[in-house]
Amino acid sequence: MAIVMLSEEVVARIAAGEAVERPASVVKELIENSIDAGAGAIHTDTAGGGRKLIRISDNGSGIPSAEIKLAFARHATSKLRAAQDLQGLVTLGFRGEALASIAAVSQTTVITRHRGEAMGVSFKLHGGAVQHHQAIGTPAGTVVTIENLFFNTPARLQFLKSGATEKRHIQRVVTRYALAYPSISFVLKQDGREQFRSSGRGSLSDAAAKVFGLDDFKRMAPVSSEGMPRRGLPQIGVSGYVSQPSLHRPDRSRIILFINGRAIQDSALSHAIAQAYGDLLPSGQHPLAALLITMPPDDVDVNVHPTKAEVRFREASQVYAAVQRAVRRAVLDSGHQAPTKGLAESRRHDTPSPRPAYQTSASHDLDDDADLDFIPEAAGRPTKPRTLPLLRIVGQIGAVYMIAEGPAGLYLIDQNAA
Ligand code: ADP
Ligand code: MG
Repeated sequence: MAIVMLSEEVVARIAAGEAVERPASVVKELIENSIDAGAGAIHTDTAGGGRKLIRISDNGSGIPSAEIKLAFARHATSKLRAAQDLQGLVTLGFRGEALASIAAVSQTTVITRHRGEAMGVSFKLHGGAVQHHQAIGTPAGTVVTIENLFFNTPARLQFLKSGATEKRHIQRVVTRYALAYPSISFVLKQDGREQFRSSGRGSLSDAAAKVFGLDDFKRMAPVSSEGMPRRGLPQIGVSGYVSQPSLHRPDRSRIILFINGRAIQDSALSHAIAQAYGDLLPSGQHPLAALLITMPPDDVDVNVHPTKAEVRFREASQVYAAVQRAVRRAVLDSGHQAPTKGLAESRRHDTPSPRPAYQTSASHDLDDDADLDFIPEAAGRPTKPRTLPLLRIVGQIGAVYMIAEGPAGLYLIDQNAA
């Protein structure tokens, strides 16, 4: 076949194939748009696992009626102007592709009114082609309705899993965003039944209890990187919840990660989190976690993945180290022994240790990332018998001595020798 340029319609469907993998990806894109629009409440309704219907309503800014057509053009966005804006992005969207891609493979209706306008607009497309466009009275905000997703891409439709599986994926998307944005109220109804509701009152613990279930949530520990300054390094904030070592599961599906408010998957980071437990977790088991990680937007590239599910860090090891430190401290503070890297390390070097032995913890690592180096090999090893008391590092004298608190009192530890 000779080389030809593809028609707009074919191009749109190809692009849709990248961004719109399944109903849950539509839900994700539309929720992200609502968040970017400053919504305080985002309601999601679906029918038939999202195949029949997905409706996202928000009370955000709304779309100016003069711009509604443009919103559905490919590469049309209000969030980006020049290539350099791709650095330091603070919005979840930026490619201007989602609405165009979703509309290309569904029947889409948008009813929206911009806050600054008296009248709203109703805009309807069928497989990307505009069906109607008219002024309408409606509250400020946006309601996007997607019907018959993938009606014109039978191959995609065939690969969809059962309605129950798709429902689960949608639930996962909504609950995760509820976690990352506790000040937004999220409601999810599937086939008319309310499945999830977050208050929007700003409490992370509320949302986490909903996401993990109260029983599991009671066995989780709060994570906070506050009070763990890293001199000379960019500030990486870590907050959220991680499971105590007694609570775990055989897969990583409940490790929920957000970078600057964006849901991401990062297997190396998930691995680092599990390693922060050292040998406190049975081998092959993974913790539960919901971690909100913040860093300067310049330090993370969000434009590396078709669905933006992965990001690239400028200094990945610093991010992993900061997260590990915060997680380890949370685990330790929850009353469990810290990982035994100090022990493993001293054995490896055959150091005679007449001083009180200690367990290293996150809290003393004030100035180095060296702790990362120790963990990887030791982490997967079978548990060694532990005969040492749990010590909690409470302070540091100069660069040399650490003060730790144990069952028998205070310990002074020479860091170099240890
Ligand atoms: P992107 O989010 O990458 O800009 P989209 O195709 O998802 O691209 O959306 C295109 C534009 O439509 C957005 O930039 C925004 O201006 C507007 N928009 C989409 N959804 C909403 C919404 N729920 N509220 C307000 N504006 C919206
Ligand atoms: Mg978008």
